[in-house]
This record gives sequence, C-alpha cells and structure tokens, in this order.
Amino acid sequence: MAARKRPSGQNLKSHRSYTTGELATVLRVSRGTIHNWMRSGLEPIEGGKPLLFLGRVVKGFLSDYRQRHRSPCGPDEIYCLGCRKPQQPAGGLADLRHNSRGALVLSGICPSCEAMMFRVVAQRDVPDIKQILDVNESADAHD
Ligand SMILES: [Zn+2]
Repeated sequence: MAARKRPSGQNLKSHRSYTTGELATVLRVSRGTIHNWMRSGLEPIEGGKPLLFLGRVVKGFLSDYRQRHRSPCGPDEIYCLGCRKPQQPAGGLADLRHNSRGALVLSGICPSCEAMMFRVVAQRDVPDIKQILDVNESADAHD
C-alpha cells in the first residue's frame, strides 16, 4: 500500500462534535481506524450515545499521535502538547490510573510549561516506568 498521509484533523471544527461516521467521512478514514484510535487513547464525549467526539479532542489526539510516531517518548517521558516534545514529568512524579475505557494512563506535570501531560502506556511497560519515575497509582475511579 502506498504511504498515505496521516489525517491531521485540520478540517475538523474544534467546538463541533462528530459521530464515528461523520469523523470517518471528514477525515477520510474507516470506522475501524477510529476504533484503533480509541484503543490508542482517543476519548469520546462521556455518556454520548451514539459515540460522539469533540473536534478539539480529536485534533489534539491526532497531533499527539503523529508526534509520537515521529519522536517516540522514552519510558520516563510523556509527550507535552504545549511544548510539542516529550518531557520528563516535573520532579520525576507521575500518576498511573485506568481511564473510563480501561486504558492505563500515565500523567505528570510538564517541567517547562506546567501543563498536565497524559500518555497511554502498556501494562508491560509499567515496571520500566517505575524504575525511573516515582509513580503514584491512584485508585481507579468508578462512577
Ligand atoms: Zn510543556
């Protein structure tokens, strides 16, 4: 298959919400791709039926996703959307918890711009992360 440009989400409207089908049409991807993105951490609007995605969230996810493939983070780094590069969380402190979709999310504060940074991590990477960062495993929120 020829190398395709990854969708950038530039044609999405930040404040609009999109169904899976609308998103597939606007970004010219399959619904399966959107489900893959959800497994990679794309979050739909909570409680939306059918699933709805906020344009701003999808844009942020796509830019993060593209950057991550370009400059992979080290095990102790989280990609900062503000600085547009991987950063080690301030003080070597990070939180680890499951999000509402069951993905394991590492979060920390960017030492440069103080933004919260989030990264979906694999369970198998947790021991490596814990060797470098001081990880606080918060109890999962059940709502
Ligand atoms: Zn930053």
